[in-house]
Amino acid sequence: MVDFSFTEEQDLFREAVKEWLSKNLTLEQVRENDTKHEIPRSLMEGLGDLGLLLLTLPEEDGGSDADWVTATIGAEELGYADISVATPVFYLVQASWGYVINRLASETVKEAYIRRASKGKGFIGIGVTEPGGGSDVAGFKTVIKPDGKGWVINGEKCYISGTAEAAEMNGGYFVSGYTDRAAGHRGMSAVFVPINQEGVEITKRFENMGRMAISTGGFKMTDVKVPKEYQLGETGRGFYYTMEGFDAARVLVSASCIGAAQRCLEIGMDYIKEREAFGQQLAKYQGIQFDLADMAAHHEAIKSLVYRTAWMLDQKYKHGTFSALEVSKYLGMCKYLAPHHALDTFRRVMYWLGAYGYTKECPLEMGVRGLMSYCIGAEGAQNIQKVIIARETLGRDWMK
Ligand SMILES: Cc1cc2nc3c(=O)[nH]c(=O)nc-3n(C[C@H](O)[C@H](O)[C@H](O)COP(=O)(O)OP(=O)(O)OC[C@H]3O[C@@H](n4cnc5c(N)ncnc54)[C@H](O)[C@@H]3O)c2cc1C
Repeated sequence: MVDFSFTEEQDLFREAVKEWLSKNLTLEQVRENDTKHEIPRSLMEGLGDLGLLLLTLPEEDGGSDADWVTATIGAEELGYADISVATPVFYLVQASWGYVINRLASETVKEAYIRRASKGKGFIGIGVTEPGGGSDVAGFKTVIKPDGKGWVINGEKCYISGTAEAAEMNGGYFVSGYTDRAAGHRGMSAVFVPINQEGVEITKRFENMGRMAISTGGFKMTDVKVPKEYQLGETGRGFYYTMEGFDAARVLVSASCIGAAQRCLEIGMDYIKEREAFGQQLAKYQGIQFDLADMAAHHEAIKSLVYRTAWMLDQKYKHGTFSALEVSKYLGMCKYLAPHHALDTFRRVMYWLGAYGYTKECPLEMGVRGLMSYCIGAEGAQNIQKVIIARETLGRDWMK
């Protein structure tokens, strides 16, 4: 049986989120956040009160046991509201990595960090990328050593989302590193590192080109000590947990791109129905209509792929119907296609808008700046998505 409908609960969820965001995260508010380089605390806490933050977690841990299709709806609606994609990042990093962290975390970590984050009063993120590179996860230099009482961490993480917010709200990060380098990627483990822990130094806040309202920074860990119960999951499984976190995040990144592209198309259509050239509205020219048709067709195809992949993720977690590798191929496809589609939509719609589109009076430039981050790297570079897609399509033997 193939059923493409959302459940009644999912429809109600979308309606409630859409309505709340239409009042609390208008494009004017997005512009203000972009200019001031911050997501107001009232907005973070509002998202928490709405039940949107860390919604994928069990209720007892501050979530609402939401499935991945529902989380994907949340990401799409946030992308629609905040086309700069700063608030979607704040949401999706925590909904995806938070899910993995929470599943692996001790009660101590949950109580001290995770439940607060679900209320918008904390931030938990992912500290994987290092100054030497992000794609080659097994090439990382961070070392995690036992010291009898707990773990001692040395290393540096770079281009990390939310470092300023985490420091302000006493949050922390999933950090991966080697407990046994000789064992290769099977010698990687993961720990939760509070950003304000002794020995952690925030090295910088980057001046990004876009998604200005959420920080991107780096932090150095020098003999950082955390108790035993700050280990996440089992020793030697860090590489696999990292891949799982990336997977979950990729569907939400893609959904936020779909939301932003939808908003952009709507802004563009409103404009071409009004703006006249050579005696009639732009919308009447076939040259413009064909451009719209091309974007709309790609939009629907990629949106279907994104929701189908979210559904697969649900099947994987709930019923084990799909293996992690099977789903990762589709997640790679989503992350490869959706950011490019969204960026391309913004570029083409900006042409419709003429000179107005090139100004900051028009909101679309925030989308171009923000979406580039998804095309370049965040949650994995585009060539890495191609490596995954090719590997899972051709077979691993061809990757040697
Ligand atoms: C705004 C922003 C926020 C981010 N937030 C976080 C965060 O919160 N936490 C975190 O851990 N990381 C974060 N990142 C980092 C992100 O995950 C990395 O950018 C990404 O993994 C790529 O790593 P890199 O930038 O070091 O590029 P590299 O790994 O150095 O790659 C550079 C280029 O080489 C290509 N390449 C690499 N390997 C291959 C190959 N085998 N075949 C072909 N081409 C290849 C890549 O596609 C890329 O184009 C963020 C990045 C950005 C831009």
